[in-house]
Amino acid sequence: MRQQQTDKPPLIKLNVALFVGLPILALVLVPYWGLTVGYSASQWILAVVFLYLNGLSITAGYHRLWAHKAYSAHPALRWFFAIWGAGALQNSIFIWTSDHRRHHRHVDDNAADPYSAKRGFWYSHIGWILRAYNSNDFSNIPDIQRDPVAQFQHTHYVALAILMNLGLPLLLGVMLGDVIGTLLLVGAARLIVNHHVTFFINSLAHIWGRQPYTQENTARDNDLLAFLTYGEGYHNYHHIFQTDYRNGVRWWQWDPTKWLIYGCSKIGLASNLVRISDFKIQRALLSNQFEKARERLELVAGAERLRALLEQEYELFTQAVGKWTSLQSERYEKSKERLGDVIDGHRQQLQLRWENAPVAVRLKQLEKALAVQRKRVQLLTEQITMQMQSA
Ligand SMILES: [Zn+2]
Ligand SMILES: [Zn+2]
Repeated sequence: MRQQQTDKPPLIKLNVALFVGLPILALVLVPYWGLTVGYSASQWILAVVFLYLNGLSITAGYHRLWAHKAYSAHPALRWFFAIWGAGALQNSIFIWTSDHRRHHRHVDDNAADPYSAKRGFWYSHIGWILRAYNSNDFSNIPDIQRDPVAQFQHTHYVALAILMNLGLPLLLGVMLGDVIGTLLLVGAARLIVNHHVTFFINSLAHIWGRQPYTQENTARDNDLLAFLTYGEGYHNYHHIFQTDYRNGVRWWQWDPTKWLIYGCSKIGLASNLVRISDFKIQRALLSNQFEKARERLELVAGAERLRALLEQEYELFTQAVGKWTSLQSERYEKSKERLGDVIDGHRQQLQLRWENAPVAVRLKQLEKALAVQRKRVQLLTEQITMQMQSA
């Protein structure tokens, strides 16, 4: 046991002060000030506004823009995310994104994933920040190193972080006539809440929730976490389709980050939004369903009829995927021809666009067929489960 203790890298004193000392102090002082002096409505509103600006700058900026290149952003938007992201005090864009790309690449690998959930809740939540476990290696972010906004933020990170966490709340405190209260609520309490909800994505979103898309890693979908994390709680989807600008892929799923990016695209601040095709999403859902159904069938003796039905469904699924693959190459050939015809003349191009239409229609039909099949496989899985329980 003692040997294990000494094997741990040294504590980073500044991080211990910021991530352990400050919350303990705030836990005493924030309620004390609230009970003795009280906070005004303006202070509460400012704290929530700061919380959302910090949170969304991490999720829409650090995460989906820089780490995953899920869309392109106008420099004005990149500056906004860089400044408010520094205010979230989660390190510079360089350090955050290079850790995060390693997390996706080596997910659940205790040696290479900087916040591997397999090392337990505490480690993946905050433990990895408190000790010098990881050294900076920027070899996986050459694209981000070329971005002048991210470069500036990395060089001036400490000054920006102090300005956003102390300078701005101090100034607002002077304006509101309560410096200490504003520093406590808008400065400290807001920062700590934002830290922990974002950290939940590394800890809880790898422990608690559903796995509809893949069981190959620990990532989960969790609606409550999505609500707390500005939409990042659809983490099972995110780990399989990391370049999609949406994490909550259904229109009704709570994902304010996705709505912000979409809104920005409507006013020219964002472009090239990456959307994974509906077919690929359905394909992932179905193949995961097949895997789960087979795992359950292995636990049931006999059940030959269910086994045969499941294999029949799988055969249909393989056929649909085959058709989709050939439609993709047909579409690719058509678009190549069309490109040639743009040069040849407008009339021909229109003709080919018309011929291309049935491909899109067939694609839609395939997507629908998979959606219907998902319901059938769902029913089949329920029957298998019932059989399991009665056995
Ligand atoms: Zn993750
Ligand atoms: Zn990610």
